Amino acid sequence: MNILIINCGSSSVKYQLFCMRKMSVLARGIAEKIGCRDSYISYQKANASIRVKVYFKDYFTAISKIVDLLVHPQKGALKSKTEINAIGHRVVHGAEEFKSSLVINKYALERIKYYGRLAPLHNPPAYNGIRAALKIFPRIKQVAVFDTAFHQTMPEEAFMYGLPYAFYKKYGIRRYGFHGTSHRYVAQQAAKILRRPLNKLKLISCHLGNGCSIAAIKFGRSIDTSMGFTPLEGLLMGTRCGDIDPALVGYIMEKGQYSIEDVNAIMNRKSGLLGLSGISNDMRDLLAQRRKGNKKAKLAIDVFIYRVIKYIGAYLAALNGADAIILTAGIGENVALIRQRIKKRLGNILGRNFKMLVIPTDEERLIALDTFKLVKRRK
Ligand code: ADP
Repeated sequence: MNILIINCGSSSVKYQLFCMRKMSVLARGIAEKIGCRDSYISYQKANASIRVKVYFKDYFTAISKIVDLLVHPQKGALKSKTEINAIGHRVVHGAEEFKSSLVINKYALERIKYYGRLAPLHNPPAYNGIRAALKIFPRIKQVAVFDTAFHQTMPEEAFMYGLPYAFYKKYGIRRYGFHGTSHRYVAQQAAKILRRPLNKLKLISCHLGNGCSIAAIKFGRSIDTSMGFTPLEGLLMGTRCGDIDPALVGYIMEKGQYSIEDVNAIMNRKSGLLGLSGISNDMRDLLAQRRKGNKKAKLAIDVFIYRVIKYIGAYLAALNGADAIILTAGIGENVALIRQRIKKRLGNILGRNFKMLVIPTDEERLIALDTFKLVKRRK
């Protein structure tokens, strides 16, 4: 069985084609700059890689072009479209309704659109992508895998904000958490590495990429995570500020004569590592500058790591100890300084049997596995 994984962003479509029998990736790539004149598709198969400049005006055209490349007579990974047996879609927000992955029907599609009010940047592209894929592949099963679903096991005490209760009922204001597919995947891998059942383990998973979040995972279920109503809460990130005093929103608006849109843009796109350092949102650049003695680069890295350590401390308390800390994504997998600082600062609390695991994340693989399970069951 071959499964195509589609991940639609605000102007891009990432894709991977899996052969489930071998659990191998047959082809992968990205269609970038949808709706722009210089849109293009990259396509990688085995060790061949091509980049095609091609104009696509919307998700339907982009996904059609991706399928054309997958079945390309010379470069394609498949002979025909019919060799794609199912499609798995990444969807960011499933709210409280979608607690696990599901086969998409008319109702689910409408609800994904509806939850665009909670994730205005993320759900609309997913909705458009799913609609396009349903048009191109009307006869195969398509599955939605939600970023929020894994955190639906959080208890009330962890997901409620200290705001008037009516806001929760009226507007759905609560902590949802994101990166769920990544946390779930690395937790499963950790159990394999530790050779212990997941439902016996207490894990702290740190997804440190451009976006960053930490999850406290007790016996395979998320009981707390650092992102909240939106992916802005929690850790310092590439361009997002993470936790701040909420009173600052009004204060900044007043002081700088900013609009709500301005403040949103500042906190989401101009803060974090980029904002503090004034240099870059890329950890590699900051590490290089730090080595040259740049003080702001050092400050941004110190704040970043300190906050990771602080959250780990909080989750050690929430979990009442942990068997392992998992580090994943670009920064988590590559920056030794973080591992050293965690050990140095938390070494005494963590205990002797404690492990620190670096595990590459692979959200697409988990989406493929979820899709496979659901499609198989329904046949
Ligand atoms: P995304 O969240 O967009 O998937 P990634 O998981 O690719 O992001 O992580 C991007 C971050 O990881 C960037 O800050 C980048 O600098 C950092 N990163 C990637 N590779 C390395 C490396 N070898 N050393 C240090 N930082 C790295």
